[in-house]
Amino acid sequence: MTDLAVLAAGFGAIPLASILLYSFRAWLDAHREVVWGGFAGVIAFLGLSHAMAFVLEGKPFLFAGNDSLGAASFLLTGLALGGLLGWFLFEGPLIRTEPASIVWATAAFLALHSFGDGLVLGRDFVGASIPVVRIDSLTVSGTVVHRFVEGALLLVPAFAARWSLRGSFVLLFVPLVSIPAAFVPGWAFDAMGLAGGSAATLALSTFLAATEASVAIMLLVRGFLPIASADRGSRWIVSVMIGFVGISVVHFLVE
Ligand SMILES: [Zn+2]
Repeated sequence: MTDLAVLAAGFGAIPLASILLYSFRAWLDAHREVVWGGFAGVIAFLGLSHAMAFVLEGKPFLFAGNDSLGAASFLLTGLALGGLLGWFLFEGPLIRTEPASIVWATAAFLALHSFGDGLVLGRDFVGASIPVVRIDSLTVSGTVVHRFVEGALLLVPAFAARWSLRGSFVLLFVPLVSIPAAFVPGWAFDAMGLAGGSAATLALSTFLAATEASVAIMLLVRGFLPIASADRGSRWIVSVMIGFVGISVVHFLVE
């Protein structure tokens, strides 16, 4: 499992590097329509396209046991949970100020997303004597970009909420949840065997992806899009498209 440990640690730690953006926080603040628009495109891809594709891909497996009602309720619970979580963070009594609620909603989104990424990474190591993870320069650079962008996604609202350098850096520990997540498929395999373990992992991945999708739609319509479109003009629309297409291309290289 040493290889997985090294990979998971590297994968988990990359977002920490995006703290370098702290020096550019004034620029990021001055170009809100471009920056927030671009990240809205990234959230749309990661949270809606990618996560929902995962749900639809996992659905036939969940429905295979003929308990369609049970499978549908399971997925519906995941979607509802994400909606409730997003609602609680934006409209609930716990977080009083608007900028802070966007920070915490983004953190919740990235925690779910990173956990899901970690499960996918760990799944490749289960059952096979030789892991099927591709490691070449294109895959590695695609992964680095993907994880760096995720760190930046967390920092933009933190900078806007005037978080300190230390606070912003501590926030970047959220994507590290992908490290323990990478070991979950292995534990499930040890506890339940290959069939049971991979079924449990897939069910968990699908459930979390549904939750992530609901948090993402809340984050988009309540957080990023209103800020991106607050200034007049149409540059933010172009930025949304560039963010969406850009992160899609990165994923073509990685997966
Ligand atoms: Zn990711």
